[in-house]
Amino acid sequence: MKENRIVKLFGIKYPIIQAGMVWCSGWKLASAVSSSGGLGIIGSGSMYPDVLKKHILKCKKATNLPFAVNLPLLYPNIEEHVSTIIEHKVPIVFTSAGNPNTWTKELKSNNIKVVHVVSSVKFALKAELSGVDAVVAEGFEAGGHNGREETTTLCLVPDVVNAINIPLIAAGGIVDGKSMLSAMILGADGVQMGTRFVACKESSAHDSFKNMVLKAKEGDTKLTLKELTPVRMLNNNFYREIVQLYQENASKEKLLKKLGKGRAKKGMYEGDLINGELEIGQASSQIREVYSAAQIIKDIMNEFKKLKQQINIESKFNF
Ligand code: NDP
Ligand code: NDP
Repeated sequence: MKENRIVKLFGIKYPIIQAGMVWCSGWKLASAVSSSGGLGIIGSGSMYPDVLKKHILKCKKATNLPFAVNLPLLYPNIEEHVSTIIEHKVPIVFTSAGNPNTWTKELKSNNIKVVHVVSSVKFALKAELSGVDAVVAEGFEAGGHNGREETTTLCLVPDVVNAINIPLIAAGGIVDGKSMLSAMILGADGVQMGTRFVACKESSAHDSFKNMVLKAKEGDTKLTLKELTPVRMLNNNFYREIVQLYQENASKEKLLKKLGKGRAKKGMYEGDLINGELEIGQASSQIREVYSAAQIIKDIMNEFKKLKQQINIESKFNF
């Protein structure tokens, strides 16, 4: 029998990938996910070059298993991040928010596997042409920075699967074994989860932010700031200040001024629930407990396997 393409590509046990998330996914979370059979990712977007180096070294010390670094291509010191990744032989890089043609060749010529995050068929085709090994198709449900097209995971995954030949990882709204199985039935080879791993013991998110994620209900996250970079966040005081600016027909400059610098750090890392930006996905409404990465992956796989067997005997499929 042929092996799952994502498991084979990365040399991991389960096709479960933890998203690279600013301020939440450092070496602790990445190594815990990799040690539990998934693929852990260090989110380098919030790390100064010396910080990224430290996280890579600590991650390597904590696990012998493969892990990756997420590289948002709009990061200001990107050359330094790329040099660190090459120098320290990081085996896999997930690039996002930018043109995959810029760094793919350089990374691949250093034996690094490259995956690019896309939000449309157009970007998926562009990524495949640039020579990446796989794509993450991330739907509108996802937290944090998001595509401009607003295509949901349910619609995006089948369209991208039809358009490309390389493996596809589905992201956006995936939080447990049920949603993982659904995404794979839609054609994905694996799944990437961010929101589920924010509310995780090893995540570096502030405890107050984790607690707010546990309380989130359906409809509590909003996508906004499309004129800058579209971002999904919790509806808190900061979000309502942005809404107020929109009601006043504020200019892009005014929106940028309100955003200022370090809003995400303030909210997610320092736990300022009033003035911070609290990036999280729609699936937060389904998360009620903070567990360890090992427990999360174990629960997901148990549910996934159980449902895979049950599907033939469930009465609702009997018609
Ligand atoms: P623009 O949308 O202005 O695009 C800048 C250039 O990069 C364009 O040439 C565009 O190509 C290309 N490009 C942008 N994104 C991709 C991609 N995913 N795959 C292939 N090519 C791409 O740039 P922004 O930087 O403002 O935003 C880029 C996209 O990334 C947006 O959809 C944004 O919401 C998302 N994003 C994702 C983040 C994440 O970490 N997940 C973080 C920040 C942004 P072309 O000329 O072909 O359009
Ligand atoms: P801001 O411009 O508001 O702030 C930058 C933050 O990143 C600051 O808090 C700063 O830390 C830290 N930082 C790390 N390295 C640098 C550097 N070389 N220069 C300046 N600041 C740095 O940006 P955001 O917080 O909105 O986003 C930061 C980065 O994360 C961007 O690269 C963005 O593309 C990426 N991003 C990726 C997302 C994803 O999902 N993958 C989601 C959101 C953002 P300090 O306060 O200690 O100075």
